[in-house]
Parts: sequence; structure tokens; C-alpha cells
Amino acid sequence: MISESLLPWYDKHARDLPWRLSPRQRCANPERQFTDPYHVWLSEIMLQQTTVVTVKSYYLKFLDLWPTVHELAAEELDKVLSAWAGLGYYARARNLHRCAKMISEDFGGVFPNNEEDLLVLPGVGPYTAAAISAIAFDEPSTVVDGNVERVIARFYALKDPLPGVKGQMKACAAKQTPAQRSGDYAQAMMDLGATICTPRSPACVICPIQENCKGRKGGIAADLPKKAPKKIKPTRRTYAYVFKDNKGRVLLRRRPDKGLLGGMTEVPTSGWLEGQDPLLDPTLEVLAEWDSFQGIVKHTFTHFHFEIVVRSAEFSQDVSRLAKELGASWHSEDDFGALALPTVMKKILRHAKLST
Ligand code: SF4
Repeated sequence: MISESLLPWYDKHARDLPWRLSPRQRCANPERQFTDPYHVWLSEIMLQQTTVVTVKSYYLKFLDLWPTVHELAAEELDKVLSAWAGLGYYARARNLHRCAKMISEDFGGVFPNNEEDLLVLPGVGPYTAAAISAIAFDEPSTVVDGNVERVIARFYALKDPLPGVKGQMKACAAKQTPAQRSGDYAQAMMDLGATICTPRSPACVICPIQENCKGRKGGIAADLPKKAPKKIKPTRRTYAYVFKDNKGRVLLRRRPDKGLLGGMTEVPTSGWLEGQDPLLDPTLEVLAEWDSFQGIVKHTFTHFHFEIVVRSAEFSQDVSRLAKELGASWHSEDDFGALALPTVMKKILRHAKLST
């Protein structure tokens, strides 16, 4: 079993992470044996699609603002979205808030301890449910993230490509999940993948499970897991319209709750057209004399690249009527920090010489 050599290694080498109660910390404080489920849930939602380095400061900021799930649940969604701005994948923040409300109002603030019940929570998929139940409750759940997939593919020398091989990986990972210290085992596998069994150059000579690793023995570890060829991402293009008034304020509006960047703050844009040049928005164009900034803003979302030409115009009259017509409101640069501005919108504002 992997756990026999991995857990002693983890006891010595576990990464210090702000959401983690490491074996060393538990030895120092025997009263605290498991991590608070709120902390595990919060960190795991943030870590979906985002690196540990980026998540650390956001996690600490959220705990500072909302130390308990009840406080997060009682907060306005816009404040949560604003604190989330920059982490990306904003549906996660909306689901985070919905989930906090459900835990606070329907579950009395207590997270369920098993995968089945955790899966009914908004934003909690199979991976997150397994991680919470293992790490916070020490249930023998099989936790398989990208790091664990890599370790398992190499340990068993699984040569079929992802994503087709995922089922086989999960079955192999389940066979290895120990009945005791399941939470530590899950975190140890993640740490092994992040620090030793790394994507490009696995450090097999210092690996605690090298003895039984088939990928190492076959000399193919660095080539695994294999991946099916990636689809080429399309490019969408648009014009962004930075309206300024004579006080230097900018017109911004809230995006619809559903869909990409739902509920976030945006600079008005024309349609986001795929595979062709952007088209000017006729309704916005007639409102002023516009100038385009040189160069384009580039951003990449999960499914497409995005290119934006930024246009700007200044208004001296009728600014309140204009805001009403566009469903928007005026904001000074000093306000930007408190708004739920996603990274792409910050890039647009910076391109228009505004500081965010
Ligand atoms: S021996 Fe090498 S390939 Fe195998 S699990 Fe360890 S680091 Fe990864």
C-alpha cells in the first residue's frame, strides 16, 4: 500500500498551508485533530482551477472578513464577488455564497460529513465532496485531483490518455485509500504530486514510494499521464466602451447573474464575436465621438481567447440619463477596489489609462 511509506514521509514533509492542520501542528495541539470543515470547503472551492500560491491571500482575506460560515452567508453577494475579484471562474463565488446560505440556514451551520450529502451543496462536485469528507472528517473517501492523477498514472504505469483513463485512475486510487488517516493520506498524495512527482521532472530518487512505482521502473514516469491532443481555443473579439464624465468618473454596469462573469462589474462592450473582426455597437457609437486606444487587450478564458479594442469618450452633459439608459452607474477610480471587477475588465480600464 502506498500509504505505508507515504504517511511517514508526510509526517515529516507536509507543506505548511494556511487551511491545513499538519501533523506537526496536531502534535503541538492535541485538542485539535481535524481541520474545520468551513476552512476545508472554502480552500477547496478556491483551489478549483487556481494555484495554491494565488489562493493563500484570498483564503486569509475571506476568513478575516467572514470567520464563520454564518457570517459569509449573511453577507451581500456583491461584497463576496468583490472580495473574489481576481480569482476567476466567478460562478464559484456565486455558488460559494449560495452554499454558505444553505449550510447556515438549512444545516444549522454544520457541514455534512459524507460525500453523498456534500454533493447536494451548490458548487460541490465529486472531488470537493471527497476532499471535505476525507480532510475534515477523516472518512475513507478517495480524493483524486490533478496531482493524484499524475502520481497514480505513474505508480501503475497507466499508458492510456486522459481524459479516457480517468475511470481506471479512480479505481486504482480507491484501492490505495487507507481506512485510517484518510485525510492525511489525501493531502500527502497532493503534496507528493506538487513537490516530488511533478509534471515535467519527477524526483524519483527522493520519492517515498519509488520502490513499487512501475512508471519509474519502466523509465516512462516523465511521459505520464498521457493526454489526448488539446482542442484549439477559438478567439472572440469585441469593442469596450469606456465612458468618462467631466469629473473623471467611468460608467460601469453589472453583468447578468447567469453566464460568464455573472453578476460581476463590466465596462459596456459590443457583441463578443467568434472568429471574425469585432463590430462597433451602433447604439453606443451614436452617443459620442469615440477614440480607440492603440493596441488590443488580450485575455484567455477556459474555452476561448478574448481580444478587445478599447474606445473612450468624455461626456459633459446628461450623464445621469446616459447611465439610466445603459443600466449602469458612475464610479471614480477610488471606487474600483470595492467593485467586483474581474481581471479582464481591470485590463480594459488599465489600457484606458485608469488605475485599478
Ligand atoms: S517514483 Fe517517481 S514517478 Fe513514481 S511516484 Fe515517485 S516521483 Fe512519481
